[in-house]
Amino acid sequence: MSCSRRHFIAGMGAVIFMTGSAQRSLAQIQINGIRYGMVYDETRCIGCTACMDACREVNKVPEGVSRLKIIRTGPIGEFPTAKYRFYRQSCQHCDNPPCVSVCPTGASYKDAATGIVDVNPERCVGCQYCIAACPYRVRFIHPVKKTADKCNFCRDTNLAQGKLPACVISCPTKALTFGNLDDPNSEISRLIADKTTYRAKAYLGTEPKMYRIPDQHGEIKE
Ligand code: SF4
Ligand code: SF4
Ligand code: SF4
Repeated sequence: MSCSRRHFIAGMGAVIFMTGSAQRSLAQIQINGIRYGMVYDETRCIGCTACMDACREVNKVPEGVSRLKIIRTGPIGEFPTAKYRFYRQSCQHCDNPPCVSVCPTGASYKDAATGIVDVNPERCVGCQYCIAACPYRVRFIHPVKKTADKCNFCRDTNLAQGKLPACVISCPTKALTFGNLDDPNSEISRLIADKTTYRAKAYLGTEPKMYRIPDQHGEIKE
C-alpha cells in the first residue's frame, strides 16, 4: 500500500466530499491521450453491493464468479455504535501488469488507446498463468467461455456505448469516480490531487490505476 500525496496512516484522513461523476457522460471526460483509472472512496461506500449487481447484469457475468467484490470487515467497535469498513476488490488496471507479461499467447494485453487491461478470448488458451501472476486475485476462468476474465471497466459494454462503467452509474453514494488520469483537469485527476489516496500493493511496482480514499475505521489486510 502506498500513498499518492502523503503517507496514509490508518485511522486518519477520512474526508467526505461531493462528486458528480455518475451524472456525467463518458464523452464529457474523453480527450486525446487517455489513460483510464478509478477512485474508490471508502468513506462513501455503504456496502450496498449495487455496483456488483450492475456489473453482473451489464457484463453478463455468470453466478459463481465475479468481476467485482465489495468486501466488508468485521464490526469495528460494539453495538450499537459498531462500524464496518468496505473494500473494493477488482482489477486495478495496472500500468505495469504482471498478468500481461506472463501470458504466452498475447491474450492478456493493455489497450494502447485507453490503458485498460483486457483479455482477448480468441487468443486465450486457459492456461491460468495470468491468474497466478495477478497479486490482486481478481482473475478467474469464465465458466462458460473457459477463458480468463475480469473487470475491463466495461470497455466492450458501457464504454463502447458512450456510458460510464456500470458500477459508477449504479453507486447511490457516488463513491466511484472514473476518468482520464492523463488529463490534469479531469474530475479524477483533481480528486487525486486534492485528497489523500493510496493504491493497494503499489510497492510491487505494478502501478495500479485504482486509487482509494481511505476510511478512518481500521484497515483491511488483503
Ligand atoms: S490487477 Fe491483476 S488482472 Fe488487473 S491489471 Fe493488475 S495484475 Fe492484471
Ligand atoms: S489464461 Fe489466457 S489470458 Fe491468462 S495467461 Fe493463459 S492464455 Fe493468457
Ligand atoms: S454501489 Fe457504491 S456504495 Fe454500494 S457497495 Fe458499490 S461502491 Fe459501495
